[in-house]
Amino acid sequence: MACDLHVHSTASDGTVRPGRLAREARDVGLEAIALTDHDTTEGLKACAAGCRRHGLKFVPGIEISADPVLSADTAAPGTLHLLGLFVRAGHPRMHSIAERQTAARACRNAAIIERLQQLGVKTTLEQVLALARAEGTAAIGRPHIAAVLTEAGYTRSIQDAFTRYLGRGAAAYIRRDRMPAAEAIEAIHEAGGVALLAHPVQLGFADDAWVDHMVRKLTDLGLDGIETHHSDHTPTQCAAYEALAGRLGLLSSGGSDYHGSRKDVRLGAVRMPMAVLERLEAAARDGAKRGATGD
Ligand SMILES: [Zn+2]
Ligand SMILES: [Zn+2]
Repeated sequence: MACDLHVHSTASDGTVRPGRLAREARDVGLEAIALTDHDTTEGLKACAAGCRRHGLKFVPGIEISADPVLSADTAAPGTLHLLGLFVRAGHPRMHSIAERQTAARACRNAAIIERLQQLGVKTTLEQVLALARAEGTAAIGRPHIAAVLTEAGYTRSIQDAFTRYLGRGAAAYIRRDRMPAAEAIEAIHEAGGVALLAHPVQLGFADDAWVDHMVRKLTDLGLDGIETHHSDHTPTQCAAYEALAGRLGLLSSGGSDYHGSRKDVRLGAVRMPMAVLERLEAAARDGAKRGATGD
């Protein structure tokens, strides 16, 4: 039996409703799933109820987009995502993350549209919001803008939209305000969870020595583990990240990063043994105990 510890729903940018995920998970033979929507715990309640109905174990989670710049000499060229597993859904720290990130995203979307209009691309925020509403996704962002650009014939595909307009360094790229990693890790701990570095490959380092350096710095900030297994990792990378976790005494985790039909990855495409989940759960319990005694 196995678990998939990285799954998205319509509460962020997935296409499957949180209450529906359990049935899909059961159908592909999973015993447990973690719902880890971007910067929100909004879907956890519905997903937990679905899991109860279908006899699955449920892990409440979140995936926080953090600033990949830790200090002047420690910065990743790619993205830094931190997974919190076993977080308490209703915790005030989780709520404030959601509010802050929604505001940051809305502000960025408006700035991107403004830049596009300056470039002569006649796309409006209303079109983007209408598309997101039709899809039922809560986190509105660049994938929706890319879809609108493509539908209007400005770009050939979503990928083309990112290359020409929306990706880093492209004509309408706007940097988003991100939460410092230290703050994200602290919030996850306060909410009773364990903090893991998601898909280290997406940090974008060309050299593994830099991943090692970054993970050490994050460990100093309280990181508990690494998502060693992910659908973007080659078998060689999975083994390298496992070895890194072993060297630093960190936990390991793994999941598919399923987004429904938005991405070409199936639910359960990455499966971890239940023992992995049990170790993470024990660590969350120990962390909660530590928090309660105040050391
Ligand atoms: Zn991610
Ligand atoms: Zn993800």
